Amino acid sequence: MNIFDAHCDALSKLWEHKELSFYQEDERLQVSFPEMEQAKIGIQVFASYVPTRIRYGQKFQAALEMIDIFHDKVISPDLMPIYTRNDLDECVLKGKKGAILFVEGAHPLEESLTNLRTLYRLGVRGMGLTWNFRNEVADGCEEPNPSGLSLFGRKVIKEMNQLGMMIDVSHVAEPGFWDTLELSKTPVIASHSNVRALHDHPRNLRDEQIKALIQSGGVIGLSFVDFFYTRERRDVTVDDVLRHLDYVCSLGGVDHVAFGSDFDGIETTFQDLTSAKKYTILVDELHKRYTLAEVDKFLSKNWLRVFRTVLQ
Ligand SMILES: [Zn+2]
Repeated sequence: MNIFDAHCDALSKLWEHKELSFYQEDERLQVSFPEMEQAKIGIQVFASYVPTRIRYGQKFQAALEMIDIFHDKVISPDLMPIYTRNDLDECVLKGKKGAILFVEGAHPLEESLTNLRTLYRLGVRGMGLTWNFRNEVADGCEEPNPSGLSLFGRKVIKEMNQLGMMIDVSHVAEPGFWDTLELSKTPVIASHSNVRALHDHPRNLRDEQIKALIQSGGVIGLSFVDFFYTRERRDVTVDDVLRHLDYVCSLGGVDHVAFGSDFDGIETTFQDLTSAKKYTILVDELHKRYTLAEVDKFLSKNWLRVFRTVLQ
């Protein structure tokens, strides 16, 4: 079974550094096609993250430029775009490699449902509602005194449900998290978040949030972001990921936990999980501690189930 990873920022990296090629291994790129092949990554979600420095009025344009890169420089005869449940099945049954397009943070919508539908028509199949800060949909986890979803945010959830888009609550502050779980008619995911009980960071999920995601049929993707694990960042290794994995399983999450590396969104890395090709280290450790059936769930089956449920 090939790996399904639900979050990377390679599109933003390729947008910032036009000289990089996705098909050429480069130490500046943590996810590239050659590294996907080396680690047997079968499906990769590519998030378009528009940086906060881009002004309102130009955010949608920046997202379009990243989507252009996805179509022009990322997908290929060797890496098929996944838009539907059938594409997902084709990818798995034929052992093909697949790419799924997301937007990270709803700020590029610039308060327009037309923009949301346009992104969908361009192939976007999931969206994180916020990044760390406030936008027109919800408040990010680093805002003081955060509120829940805005009126526009509620319309966005409804529209995403209608279109069959994955709703991603990583980065969303708690009130918005709870509103989203209450409103969404389809399971909700946290594509790249960790366990707050093990490390108190605002990007990590509290036990009640993890339990609610499990209850909703959603999935939590554990990230490889060192500062979500400890303050002493230099010593983080694959063992730390396994601690978080064990913890989610102990809350009843064996069918609801997987991985969303956040490669290319990370500046300092783990000691060992430094780029996509190093996924093999995690796979080896998983096989030492879990049954084959469990390892399959963590590496792909849990994501496949929830994406099959939501995509149309
Ligand atoms: Zn992120």
